[in-house]
Amino acid sequence: MTAVLESVDVPMMALGRVYQRYRSEFDAAWQRVMERGTYVLGSEVEAFEEEFSAWCDPGRPVVSVASGTDAVLLALRSLGIGPGDHVATVSHTAVATVAAIELAGAVPILIDIEPRTFTIDVQKLEDTLNQLQSGPSRPKVRAVVPVHLYGHPCDIDGLLGVCERYGVQLLEDCAQAHGASFKGRKVGSFGAAAAFSFYPTKNLGAFGDGGAITFSDERHAQTCRALRQYGWRERYFSDLAGFNSRLDELQAALLRVRMRHIDEEIEVRRKIAARYNHDLREFLEVPFLRAQCEHAYHLYVIRHAEREKLRARASSRGVSTAIHYPAPVHMQRAYAGRLRIGAGGLDATERAAREVLSIPMHPFLTDIEVESVIRGLRADERSSV
Ligand SMILES: *Cc1c(COP(=O)(O)O)cnc(C)c1O
Repeated sequence: MTAVLESVDVPMMALGRVYQRYRSEFDAAWQRVMERGTYVLGSEVEAFEEEFSAWCDPGRPVVSVASGTDAVLLALRSLGIGPGDHVATVSHTAVATVAAIELAGAVPILIDIEPRTFTIDVQKLEDTLNQLQSGPSRPKVRAVVPVHLYGHPCDIDGLLGVCERYGVQLLEDCAQAHGASFKGRKVGSFGAAAAFSFYPTKNLGAFGDGGAITFSDERHAQTCRALRQYGWRERYFSDLAGFNSRLDELQAALLRVRMRHIDEEIEVRRKIAARYNHDLREFLEVPFLRAQCEHAYHLYVIRHAEREKLRARASSRGVSTAIHYPAPVHMQRAYAGRLRIGAGGLDATERAAREVLSIPMHPFLTDIEVESVIRGLRADERSSV
């Protein structure tokens, strides 16, 4: 007879633990803002932008905005992309990526993904650019928005090459990839611009919405600083037709607390991923890691042909799971039938939507929880998948 090991229920997320862990630092931060009496675009936002820049890619200008969706939208607008322009991206992503392209007035062109990394297939991107160039209407693709999905970097060298050859601007969607790197350089440092989200569950999460953009060119950052505040050159004088998309002082102050811990938190994510990899790889497809890349494990996504069976078993053992994402953007009701799809259909995208499964992954998981997740997924002597 085998000993009965302790198991606990494991939810996908436990955001309340963020506050519990750093309570005294958060309390000091919000009290400081409340007492100072500046709530929009003040010293906390300025300091946060500097600290985020120093952490991501020292010297690269950072402009904070109200959300990750706005970050993609304002990055495009700052790069001069708008109505009449085409922008290539993926369909296997948060709908926000595609929504932001349309909000900018541009036309999204959806490219399939590599099956192993779930990120944009650069060969298919190039095929599509070729095909469009020789087609009758010759739509001008001005930018590509690859998504470093789940925290895994895209094929960055491949993308830089294609962008160079076709005169296309690179806008990285880093909403899931704070802290991921390629050849020792963090994502968000490669493109003309890079968009980040600080939605609470992201690797760097606020207590509400927030986002930021890093730019390679200070002039684009300046345009963005105007666009986020009514297009103002100076107070009450609008040089551009702008928006209201600002990060609150309160959120900036709280994000500054989280910035102090982000490196250690990402290390914890990597340690948990290493344990999952070691214990799960014999019976399921664990996340692939491209050479010279460091994964930030925003999500830990496995793939299984009998996903629903696996999911039901985990659930029966108290382990929550989620699907990112169950329907690709081109199959969503709001978009179906009206988006331009890239060359060759989106087979890998549609297969991913059927087979991916996200299991609990965040830096506040306890050892017993990690153990319980592994046990919840494993087939035991009485069941088999
Ligand atoms: C979360 C996310 C966004 C949108 O960010 P919000 O802050 O929720 O607007 C965009 N792209 C990707 C890939 C995301 O995961």
